[in-house]
Amino acid sequence: MKRTPLIAGNWKMNTSLEEATDLATAVAAAAPADIELVVCPPFPWLLTVATAIAGSRVKLGAQNCWFEPKGAFTGEISPAMLRPTCTFVIAGHSERRALFAEDDDLVGRKVKAIMEQGMTPILCVGESLAQRKAGQAHQVVTRQLSAAIARIESAHVANLVVAYEPVWAIGTGIAASPADAAEMTTAIRETLRGLDPVGADQVRLIYGGSVTTENAPTLLGQENIDGALVGGASLSAVDFLAIAQAARR
Ligand code: PEP
Repeated sequence: MKRTPLIAGNWKMNTSLEEATDLATAVAAAAPADIELVVCPPFPWLLTVATAIAGSRVKLGAQNCWFEPKGAFTGEISPAMLRPTCTFVIAGHSERRALFAEDDDLVGRKVKAIMEQGMTPILCVGESLAQRKAGQAHQVVTRQLSAAIARIESAHVANLVVAYEPVWAIGTGIAASPADAAEMTTAIRETLRGLDPVGADQVRLIYGGSVTTENAPTLLGQENIDGALVGGASLSAVDFLAIAQAARR
């Protein structure tokens, strides 16, 4: 099954408005044809970045959302509000799970709400270092994945992106080995097969955690690693585009 590689940049709480505009403009100017390239800027820059990438191959993603459509949720943003500009929304990033107490149930609700608005969730799953050392990595990832897919209809499985992001690899400079990353993404696809044997083959399974221009070619060359969720390196247009080039097949 041929899947279009997906490279998504999570800018987190970084960039000034001017930096965001420059970064998006530079990425849009050199986006490779055969890769799906996504930038996820901070919320206040979404509209400006949407303008900067308009007419290019780059798509817009949000870093988070709430699951309710509207109402008294001060400070939150609904999937319906993101829909006019965004194609993708990240759900369950480990920083949200750890710093904002998001649990599997909440992440599952977000995934469902994102899909109901016709956008693609980038569902983040991954174990901590303690969990890996205790031999619980697969168990943790399966639990996180199962909680989310329990809320989606099997007909929608193909429209999911799952990012395997071991927590210990995020922002640490220590990426998972290509073999370990591929072993986990292969297990994720097997779990998805239980829900939809056909759709599971279409799901993009991407890796995140200290992806750089140096390690991208090997990581992205693995069977069942269909792209990357890139944090730090996505703040440099040159590095982000080089990682995208490494994803070409
Ligand atoms: C991330 O935050 O999703 C991430 C992968 O960060 P980094 O690339 O900086 O490790």
